[in-house]
Amino acid sequence: MPPRSKLGEIPRQEMPTRSAEERRKDFKEVPTGYTEEQALKEALRCLDCKVPHCMEGCPAKVKIPQFIGLVAEGKFLDAAKKIKETNALPAACGRVCPQETQCEERCVVGKKFEPVAIGKLEMFVADYERKHSEHEDLKVEKNGKRVCVIGAGPAGLACAGDLIKLGYDVTVLEALHTIGGVLMYGIPEFRLPKELVAHEVENLKRDGVKFKINEVAGISLDFGELRKEYDAVFLGTGAGLPVFLNVPGEHLCGVYSANEYLTRVNLMGAYKFPEVDTPVIRHKKVAVLGGGNVAMDACRTAVRLGAEKVYIVYRRTEKELPARLEEIHHAMEEGVEFRFLRAPLEIIGDENDNVVAIRTQVMELGEPDEDGRRKPIAVEGKIEDIEVDAVIIAIGTTPNPLIARKVPELKITKKGTYVIDEETGETSMDGVFAGGDAARGAATVILAIGDGKRAAYGIDKYLSEK
Ligand SMILES: Cc1cc2nc3c(=O)[nH]c(=O)nc-3n(C[C@H](O)[C@H](O)[C@H](O)COP(=O)(O)OP(=O)(O)OC[C@H]3O[C@@H](n4cnc5c(N)ncnc54)[C@H](O)[C@@H]3O)c2cc1C
Repeated sequence: MPPRSKLGEIPRQEMPTRSAEERRKDFKEVPTGYTEEQALKEALRCLDCKVPHCMEGCPAKVKIPQFIGLVAEGKFLDAAKKIKETNALPAACGRVCPQETQCEERCVVGKKFEPVAIGKLEMFVADYERKHSEHEDLKVEKNGKRVCVIGAGPAGLACAGDLIKLGYDVTVLEALHTIGGVLMYGIPEFRLPKELVAHEVENLKRDGVKFKINEVAGISLDFGELRKEYDAVFLGTGAGLPVFLNVPGEHLCGVYSANEYLTRVNLMGAYKFPEVDTPVIRHKKVAVLGGGNVAMDACRTAVRLGAEKVYIVYRRTEKELPARLEEIHHAMEEGVEFRFLRAPLEIIGDENDNVVAIRTQVMELGEPDEDGRRKPIAVEGKIEDIEVDAVIIAIGTTPNPLIARKVPELKITKKGTYVIDEETGETSMDGVFAGGDAARGAATVILAIGDGKRAAYGIDKYLSEK
């Protein structure tokens, strides 16, 4: 093992990235990935702490110092295996996890210098493995028990991946025609290339996980029947229902939920229209309402579809933006204009019901509210119109209500999330478990993965004790 560098001796390795000028015009990935030399150098920055606080920040419990140690030795394939012991989706996590508030936030090096680039190293290792090795077949004895996973997003995939390793017969049902949940229909190609998700899904298939697409549990398949057919069920149905504003003009042509806009472009590939048959209108001036990752993805998508002006309209200031720092930075570089302290009042249309402007209330920040965030307050009489021909609403989503509405035994909170046991993920219904956005509301990929893993443990405990 090469000696680790002294604290601060090597600077954090910058991720090579395509220029804003070039990437504005296409949907190809923005970062181009570490070189082997960079990965080796970055790995030496890890101090291999006796108590690795970074791991406390990872809901998938990736063995961070161990995999980074293997990178430092140049054993990239072994490093990939180490990550995969606990996380089946490293190519996705390395790219989209908010490391700055999770593993990297707790990195000891980060107390004085830039933290070790754990996410970038994870991305490097996953990409290296995909290019240089074949998936090893899983050797495990079957235990004869059957589990149904509903929803093929990160929560469902993580749960399925762990259960198959424990010997269960696992079937995943997915409503859409593609597997991956938000990783496929929400997060754009320029942040997470779809072939990477497909590759990780392919590995799960090779491990023996069965997938049934175009199956909406609760509609095309009766939930009660499913429960009887399987020994246990996991609900990883996400939070895919868009929240609207309830302001006048929301019915106008040119108003989209971010879900619709991103699904058209990502899942259906509408940016290639007419090569594919799903259209998307290429608007000239677009306002995106909201400040989270979804809003950043929508505004950067609008840029790539050729809009001349793209605005983010956000009630608070830059400091409060909930999106990942990297994505905000990329959006700014790509020319997105941020209109902070503006709250939408009305969407204005012309005589043909096409959007022509969005009317906003100018705000200022008041005292911190119960979450500690300063509350936006209207500045009386200060109204501003922004001329646009499209408005994309990205102010949040809530859980898919379909199954909960039909199955009264399944308790939900006021927010529509499943009530679950903190330790096992079990719902109020015997043998039914839940996790990911369906149980916590719109959150993150890694939390969904962590929940899927917890439920796999809960299901195993439940079925072993039965
Ligand atoms: C545009 C966008 C950008 C994001 N960016 C980031 C990011 O950068 N970093 C990050 O960590 N997180 C990000 N997130 C959040 C993250 O993607 C989610 O937290 C995560 O995908 C939740 O995983 P899940 O498995 O719970 O649900 P989902 O990924 O939503 O998957 C649920 C799946 O269940 C299926 N389903 C629903 N109901 C049924 C049914 N009745 N029968 C069968 N199937 C059903 C759905 O079709 C879907 O495929 C983003 C989200 C969006 C929308």
